[in-house]
Amino acid sequence: MSTVRTTCPYCGVGCGVLVTPNGAGGAMVKGDPDHPANFGRLCSKGAALGETLGLDGRILTPVVGGAPATWDSALDLVAGRFKAAIRDHGPDSVAFYLSGQMLTEDYYVANKLIKGYMGTANVDTNSRLCMASSVAGHKRAFGADTVPGTYDDLDQADLVVLVGSNLAWCHPVLYQRLVAAKAARGTRVVVVDPRRTATCDIADLHLALAPGSDAALFNAVLVALADRGAVNRAYVAQHVAGFDAALATARASDPAMTGLTAQDMALFLDWFTTTDRVVTVYSQGINQSSSGTDKVNAILNCHLASGRIGRPGAGPFSVTGQPNAMGGREVGGLANMLACHLDIENPAHRAAVQGFWKSPAMPDKPGLKAVEMFDAVADGRIKALWIIHTNPAVTLPDSDAVARAIKGCDFTVVSDITRTDTTRLADVVLPATAWGEKSGTVTNSDRTISRQRPFLPAPGQARDDWRIVADVAARMGWGADFGWTSAGDVFAEYAALSGVAGDLGRDFDISGLAQADYDALPPTRWPVNARKQGGRFFGGGGFFTPDQRARMLPITPRLPVAKTAPRYPFRLNTGRIRDQWHTMTRTALAPRLNQHIAEPFLEIHPSDAAGLGLMPATLAHVTSPQGQAILRVSISDRVQRGHVFAPMHWSGETAPSGRVDALVAPVTDPVSGQPESKAAVVAVAALVPAWYGFAVSVGPQNPDAAYWARARCEGGWRSELAGTALPHNWEAYARALFNLPDATCLSVEDRVRGTHRIALMEGGRALAALFAAPDPVQLARGHIAAQVGQAGAALLAGRPGAGVVDPGPTVCACLNVGLHTITTAIATQNLTSVDQIGAALHAGTSCGSCRPELAALLARQMEAAE
Ligand code: SF4
Repeated sequence: MSTVRTTCPYCGVGCGVLVTPNGAGGAMVKGDPDHPANFGRLCSKGAALGETLGLDGRILTPVVGGAPATWDSALDLVAGRFKAAIRDHGPDSVAFYLSGQMLTEDYYVANKLIKGYMGTANVDTNSRLCMASSVAGHKRAFGADTVPGTYDDLDQADLVVLVGSNLAWCHPVLYQRLVAAKAARGTRVVVVDPRRTATCDIADLHLALAPGSDAALFNAVLVALADRGAVNRAYVAQHVAGFDAALATARASDPAMTGLTAQDMALFLDWFTTTDRVVTVYSQGINQSSSGTDKVNAILNCHLASGRIGRPGAGPFSVTGQPNAMGGREVGGLANMLACHLDIENPAHRAAVQGFWKSPAMPDKPGLKAVEMFDAVADGRIKALWIIHTNPAVTLPDSDAVARAIKGCDFTVVSDITRTDTTRLADVVLPATAWGEKSGTVTNSDRTISRQRPFLPAPGQARDDWRIVADVAARMGWGADFGWTSAGDVFAEYAALSGVAGDLGRDFDISGLAQADYDALPPTRWPVNARKQGGRFFGGGGFFTPDQRARMLPITPRLPVAKTAPRYPFRLNTGRIRDQWHTMTRTALAPRLNQHIAEPFLEIHPSDAAGLGLMPATLAHVTSPQGQAILRVSISDRVQRGHVFAPMHWSGETAPSGRVDALVAPVTDPVSGQPESKAAVVAVAALVPAWYGFAVSVGPQNPDAAYWARARCEGGWRSELAGTALPHNWEAYARALFNLPDATCLSVEDRVRGTHRIALMEGGRALAALFAAPDPVQLARGHIAAQVGQAGAALLAGRPGAGVVDPGPTVCACLNVGLHTITTAIATQNLTSVDQIGAALHAGTSCGSCRPELAALLARQMEAAE
């Protein structure tokens, strides 16, 4: 089969991949050496894409009221219910909630329908949870949502400041570019983050500032730039407004708010003020805040004042979470934007878009932003809701309340590829095509538009999103304006509209691509028009404000809204882990990506854990004013005292008590509407279950326990379990858990220790095994998972026989190298560097995402040996 050039569907780095289908539904995936985002590199998630292509869990037919339906009946129903809601309650009674997973063409069609034809701006996207504060900050400072720089700046900078950005785990290929730049030119790296993340592995300085105090830090930078003669007076005089007011406000803010030592602060200010080539990279740690927009502008102020913007190796750089968050921004996926970076509140812009579309309607005010939208669903203002490729019942703050709101909505339709917590609440579920099946474009964090190309047929009755939306539009009477025959036609219309935006003086103008060969389109950085092709913005001014000058803003730092108190004494930070993506609907299909971290956890400082009586691997009951969760305890000094961290990936499908957004308050930034997802307040207490368990099986499991977390493993499935009451009969419990009522049961009970080991056998093969104990079960989990389905019941021993090394939990997911293998090699082969580990075991030599963990293991072992 021939190789197809396409793009990774996960993060905003937007890596190019080469896919060679095997003709049987699978494919081999490699990094594209010619793609300017990654030059052949991939992270563990991208490298495992080929293992996620199966149809397990896929939605293959339309579903209405829980029963399979035809496309015609489902689409008629959707069109009819939206029409009825608009007729009876007005346009603002309907809403779309979209996703940065959608392709630009899908986004374009959805926006055209709801804004230009249904007549409401109630369309928002899960990008609101990701980078809305960057959008708002850019618009306030630059007059448009323009990312000034490119990835090349990371290669060319002398100082890279990473703020609220765990690049090593969340944008691993950019992290690898930075590692390479550091090796090549000695780039200094500063990490600004309350938590000591894996990214700190390459930090020359880690500033573990108080949560939410980033604006105070950058105000201090602005003051230092002014006091040390590092302001670029010529640039400010020619291209910037608001310098004096911004500086005066910065002088009034208190750097002590950051909680940093005077020494660390002085060093940072010294480096920032004396280095010309500075890039400040920021992501969710800045954006997901009740003062996220102000934080963004505090950063932009420093780059504008120093003129370090739009030049090689210099500029502020917002990196986005999702593969097409940027495309969604460009195409008007946010409730306060029109397509092509045009403004909904600007009458000329509205008229231009409506004139181009020749549409019957055009809202004249912004619609509801994500959190507001689900408030409106809850109180009945929204009567018909269409959710596409996102899982708000898990990912929005106060997610239990969001799930109740969706359930109570008059009519909800969900388009998606797999069953999720949200599809379970829908009246209509529509089967959409997935990565590998659909055709379109995505834009990455440095404005590079790349093609996603299909290499698999659409399974079952799945259809492309743009076509589904267009089919509904046709049923609502607008078929003539939604009559494209391909994604390429949609793109051509979009590119032509961007020319109208360019004529109005906007940044996003790709009219030069309107006639392009869509199928062959290479990665292309926008803009693309007669005036400008690619490159950087603002090195010579030219901002998108009426006077073409940037705006510096006076920023008064504000700490998180929720305050810790005796009842909720801990500050909860939420984030991602290395090998999973969003709610794991795709990454969890690859067994090797589940072996690094297989269940939700709570990272807590050793002193706090000791004070609460929490031991490693026990369970913690976490409560907030909004909800509760049960999480595995991970004791680490990576978090500060009084702070805890929990990942946001687990859902009702994988660990119902591990849904951490149920703990987060629906507090938002007043400008951007982005939720404050990193500063909830919580209480933590030890949960003392009656038993802990670990289960493996060839087939799916039906866990029934106070706590469970399941994941795929090589031989089938594995689960962690804990129950508050002992089962009356362990054999019966195991049979129900594994749905194996007739299998032969082998059971070993240790009455003194209170442990149970049960294997269910068929034809001499162990189809399943359950291990239960009063304490966290200590087992060679990887070994047991590899044994399930094999002949004999050797797995009941719980560990390998003599002379066989249990590899332990996976550290290097690409090459499947386990913790015990690495620590044994370090000890027995006297390894003293990460490169030596790589030479001995190949660990860390593929994507490199695990290199910070290898370094930490090495340091720990060398420290213990001293
Ligand atoms: Fe995909 Fe990893 Fe590249 Fe992100 S860094 S686009 S997840 S391969």
